[in-house]
Amino acid sequence: MKFLCDDNLGKLAKYLRMLGLDTFFRIDISDAKLLGIMLKQNRIVLTRDNQLIKRIEPERYLLIESDSPEEQLKAVVKRFDLDVSLNIDDLDRSRMLFSRCLECNDVCDDVDKDEIIDEVFPYIIKTQDSFKRCPSCRRIFWQGSHYKDMVKKLADVVNEIRNR
Ligand SMILES: [Zn+2]
Repeated sequence: MKFLCDDNLGKLAKYLRMLGLDTFFRIDISDAKLLGIMLKQNRIVLTRDNQLIKRIEPERYLLIESDSPEEQLKAVVKRFDLDVSLNIDDLDRSRMLFSRCLECNDVCDDVDKDEIIDEVFPYIIKTQDSFKRCPSCRRIFWQGSHYKDMVKKLADVVNEIRNR
């Protein structure tokens, strides 16, 4: 299942990408273009715009009501019954997690430490072992403290959905 977030839903788009879900998001995009991408790429539209939805078949969109990105994520998971099982103690088994660039939505490649040694701080090279690179923006990702904070936030949301 592929998604498309309207330009009010940037944070939600990042959450969905963190979970490995293919999610289109771009700011400053016209409704016409957005609907074109929906059809061409067969995406479900997530939107806060109750005018836009009048132009979409009911099964192809979800009208997002909450302002909170966490509540928005819960609504999407619930509506589409997404499998978001997330094992916080064993992240390597959560393979889809962080497989995508949060900025571009592209699937990142594993990259050897040797190849990026000149591109990240020596401290990072010393303390981290696995790295990924986005093929589009060339950003390098690793499981640093920022990553762990994001996982924690995501896990809280996911666990709340599961325990309901
Ligand atoms: Zn990227």
